[in-house]
Amino acid sequence: MKLKPWVKKALSFIMIGIIIGIIGFEVVKYFHKDTEKIDNSLLKEHNIAEKYASKTLEYVLKNNIYEEKYLDEYAQIEFNDAANFKEILLTFLPKGYRGEEINYLFNLSQTNLDKLKEKDYLDLKNYYQIKNFNVDNFERYNAYYQKNSKYSYADVVTYVNINLDLPVYTNPAEVSEPNDLLVLVNKYNCLPKNYSPSDLTNVNGTYGSVPMRRVAKEALEKLQKAVQSEANFVLLPTTAYRNYSFQSTLYNNYVAKDGVAAADTYSARPGCSEHQTGLAIDLKNPATSSDIRLTEENYEWLKNNSYRFGFIIRFPKAKEFITGYQEENWHIRYVGMDAAKTIYENNLTLEEYVDLYVKKY
Ligand SMILES: [Zn+2]
Repeated sequence: MKLKPWVKKALSFIMIGIIIGIIGFEVVKYFHKDTEKIDNSLLKEHNIAEKYASKTLEYVLKNNIYEEKYLDEYAQIEFNDAANFKEILLTFLPKGYRGEEINYLFNLSQTNLDKLKEKDYLDLKNYYQIKNFNVDNFERYNAYYQKNSKYSYADVVTYVNINLDLPVYTNPAEVSEPNDLLVLVNKYNCLPKNYSPSDLTNVNGTYGSVPMRRVAKEALEKLQKAVQSEANFVLLPTTAYRNYSFQSTLYNNYVAKDGVAAADTYSARPGCSEHQTGLAIDLKNPATSSDIRLTEENYEWLKNNSYRFGFIIRFPKAKEFITGYQEENWHIRYVGMDAAKTIYENNLTLEEYVDLYVKKY
């Protein structure tokens, strides 16, 4: 079909009109960015070009904290009604933090901000969005990253927070809440010598009765029923709670046999074994040989199902550098249902979980 010339012309005019309209609208929108929200009379009063108009600028003008040298920065700082908005601007702009960095500071806890206030400018660009960032460890993060640049900054933060950059057993912290179900006991966090759980209860094990905390016993019984009905084998505890002096004897025997360095890779020093919490259990299938390890088949079930009962595989393969121990496919640890599920689904260790989900920085 052939269009009449005047129709063609009319159509072209309409098209051109639409294009000009769109361009014009965008141009107007660009130059009036945010201006509808802000008070233009303030800009005029201070002789400020409209391109700087922002809610933050309006805020500083109204609150009499305007400083011309930060004009560019105000335009980049997203206004928010945080109670400490004014404090952050007044404290951190003069330290040299720029607009986008100021935006990041609003995500930090008051604890971290208070620490930052005491310090000169720190270049935080690599740590934006890392929720477990701890100002105290800033220099250690950078030093650790220098040596381990294969890790992401998020991993660097977690690994340093759990002290992987420090030699083991140098100055272990004493665990303050040993009864907590998420208690972390390792080569950096040890239990008081005289700690013993008050709710120990016995479970039938491979070599006699095995004491453990009541909550672990109840969960273990459910796990045992499930493994029998779902996978048709039996798991019995060989050992669970061990007191300080028993661990001491064990460890010293290993040291006498293999030396300190080797013993430390598979046995905990007294006070630093999570068996003392009464929440760790070593399991065995009594139908198999005397080998301490579970068969791959048995382990496969345990690895993929123990979380359903609140347990985790505490020393998994490929995580030795975090846990500080060789893989132990027979050692499970009760942590509760929620933590166990998160740890399983995200392939974490207890160290990582506690740092990412429990600790507050
Ligand atoms: Zn164990």
